[in-house]
Order: sequence, then structure tokens, then C-alpha cells
Amino acid sequence: MNENYLILLGLGNDAKAEGKSLAEQIDAVLPQTQCAQCDFDGCKPYSEAIVSGEAEINQCPPGGQDGVDALAELLGRQSLPLNETHGETKPRRFAIVDEKACIGCTLCIKACPVDAFVGSSKVMTQVIAKECTGCDLCLPVCPVDCIDMIESEPLQKISHKDSTQFNDALIQRQILERSIRDNSRERYQFHQARLDRDKRERDELLKSRTIALKEKMAKDKEQKEKIQAAMQRLKKSKNSNAIK
Ligand code: SF4
Ligand code: SF4
Ligand code: SF4
Repeated sequence: MNENYLILLGLGNDAKAEGKSLAEQIDAVLPQTQCAQCDFDGCKPYSEAIVSGEAEINQCPPGGQDGVDALAELLGRQSLPLNETHGETKPRRFAIVDEKACIGCTLCIKACPVDAFVGSSKVMTQVIAKECTGCDLCLPVCPVDCIDMIESEPLQKISHKDSTQFNDALIQRQILERSIRDNSRERYQFHQARLDRDKRERDELLKSRTIALKEKMAKDKEQKEKIQAAMQRLKKSKNSNAIK
């Protein structure tokens, strides 16, 4: 039997046994690459779209056909062929930066959904390989094309010879897979929370500036009206003095 499918299904079933919501059970099966190839902003939004019926179960290329099959089994549905219009399934990869070519523009830092880059403005940027999900989102934003993707060492196939050994190895692989996914999920959530906080702060700043501008305009108007009234009074008193 396909070990990858069994591992993925096991992750979903564990989430079910832990009483997690349906969206969280689906999210447990999804690879947490956070690449948006499914047409949603990340694995969690895609899992919610599957629950609401807005998306099919076959839109995640990094999860591959095994992922689609595991989702179908978890949800008690008929499996579907992976929809390749969303992209192709690639081996696990990570990004590296050509340090000599990098101009420190930070565009990749902003594009990375799991904050896998270290660096700051005008300082050479580097990737923390173990945090990189291989989502490719940094590639198109780099103005000097200095990011490359490197294939990760493939995991050894589990031997099918002895069923006890096979089950033990499967459990070990599942534990490893879960810890990698949990880490990527947490980093994605942290990244999203920071984006939300930055947006909130920008909105609040804009709101307070708009209020301050409106108050200033109202004050200026009041001042102008006072000056006009004073000038009219002065004109009136000059006219009445001239008549006398
Ligand atoms: S790995 Fe990419 S395509 Fe798959 S669910 Fe997550 S964001 Fe969507
Ligand atoms: S470093 Fe690049 S490929 Fe890796 S997770 Fe970040 S954006 Fe994706
Ligand atoms: S986008 Fe490219 S040039 Fe800019 S900081 Fe990242 S790696 Fe360097």
C-alpha cells in the first residue's frame, strides 16, 4: 500500500480523533506549503473553501494525488484526479540565495508566507532552509533573479517486508511529517497575524489622520468666518462714521 497516502490519512484521522473541526482535519492533510496554487491564500483558507463547497478536493499540487485520495477517504467522498491546471507536483525543495547577486531589496522577505528569510534593507538576504516550504513565491519578485530552488534529500522508502517494522516506520514518519507541518502552519499563522496587525495599525493611523485633518479644516473654516464677520463689522462702522 502507498505509504505517503497512509501517512496523510493518518494525519487527518488523528485530527478527527482530537476533536478538531472539519476544516482543521482537512488542513492536517494539506502540505502547509502555503503556495496559493489552489487559488486560495494558504492551506487553511483552502480547507475552509472545501468545507463550504467553494473548492474541490483536487486543487493542491504539492499534496499530489495521494493528498487528494486521503482527503476523499477522510471526507467519505469519491476521489478525483489531481487538477493539473493548478500546477504540477514537485519533490520537496528549498530556496537558496546567490549572496553575490542579492541587492538586499527585501521583496522576497515580504513575499514569503512563512518568514523563512533573514536579512534587512540593503543587507544581503539568506534563507533558513529548514523553514522554507518550497512555495516558489519569492522567485517571481526577485528583481535580479538570484534565488534558486534546490531539491531536498528524498526520504527513504519504508520497507514492506515485515508488517510490524512497516507500521513502526510509518508511525515514525507520521510523527516527523506532523512536526514539519505544525511548524510551517505556526509560521504561516504568525505571518498572517503580523500582516493583519500591520493592516490594522495602518488603518488606525489613516483614520486618526483623517479625523485630525477634518478637525483642522473645521477650525480653519471657523477662523475664516470669524475674520469675515469682523471685517464686515469694521466696514459697517466705517460707513456709519462717513455718513455722520
Ligand atoms: S500547499 Fe499550496 S496548493 Fe496546497 S492547499 Fe496549501 S496553499 Fe493550497
Ligand atoms: S523562501 Fe521562498 S520558497 Fe521558501 S517558503 Fe519563503 S517564499 Fe517560499
Ligand atoms: S528579492 Fe532577490 S535581490 Fe531582493 S533581497 Fe531577495 S534575494 Fe536579494
